[in-house]
Amino acid sequence: MIPSEALRIKYSGCMLGAAMGDAMGKQNEGMSRETILSRGYVKDYGMAASGSPGEKLRPGQYTDDTEQMLVLARSIIDCSGFDINDFSKKIAKWGAIMLSDPVKKSLLGPSSTGAIIRLNSGVRWEESGSDTPSCGSAMRVAPIGLFYGDLDEVESNAALSSVPTHRSKGAIAGAVAVAAGIRCAVLDMECSDIIRESCKRASRYDASLPEKIELSFENRHREPDMAFAQLGTSYMVYDVVPSALYCFSKHFESPEKALIEAVNAGGDTDSIACITGALCGALHGVYAFPERWIRGLENKELVENIAADLFEKSISRSSYF
Ligand SMILES: [Mg+2]
Repeated sequence: MIPSEALRIKYSGCMLGAAMGDAMGKQNEGMSRETILSRGYVKDYGMAASGSPGEKLRPGQYTDDTEQMLVLARSIIDCSGFDINDFSKKIAKWGAIMLSDPVKKSLLGPSSTGAIIRLNSGVRWEESGSDTPSCGSAMRVAPIGLFYGDLDEVESNAALSSVPTHRSKGAIAGAVAVAAGIRCAVLDMECSDIIRESCKRASRYDASLPEKIELSFENRHREPDMAFAQLGTSYMVYDVVPSALYCFSKHFESPEKALIEAVNAGGDTDSIACITGALCGALHGVYAFPERWIRGLENKELVENIAADLFEKSISRSSYF
């Protein structure tokens, strides 16, 4: 059994890791790998390039990935578990605020935007989700992997959490793969076992994603240029989740290296790094990240407090701990 204090550090590590990866990754969002290499690897917070979705955000400020993760965490805390109706309401309300904010509006992808508009116009959560297999539900799902101690509960709730915005089988499988990976990382499982469990759970929803996740693990010793070219880095779940798991597997013992790899992958770098950071933090705990990243994160206390509340709710419900 993992001591309580070690678990608490894993919860904050997961959520802060996601936020830090997202905040650093936004600087390269939408850039090709070649452009990133020509500019040099990003290793700390800074402004995003002019013309990119996060160009008006401050250094250390995270994007929609972390915001959605926090909405999900708050819903779980408020309801003492995942409640699809409450989460759908909260994500619709959050989305309406985002879409009315001139700075943040451009951060939302087309799948989330469409789903939020549908939810706010009265479409039920069963029907509101996009059919595009993009990564929006995988990038926010970490709190479900933290809250539930039982992997069957992680899987079923992660799958359901995808539906209001992303109802395609690929997106659902992506949310399941990441949430299962988070729970396995909390449990200190070996890398190969984390990947195996993640694939097994995802394969119940989609055949292609687990194949590509396995490929990401097989590629872990290959150079990043070749690996990212083969895995892809677009905002589709079939690219983002395997590329994040490549970074996590390649640098299994070093959250700093894993996150820098993800931030500079190319393409959807904020989401790739958000997922990588969540996995690394769930495995190693918050203190495994460089102090400068923790200190420089905007809203650090807010994220920490939500992680702490999620931890308290999680241990109070479960005899597992
Ligand atoms: Mg984003």
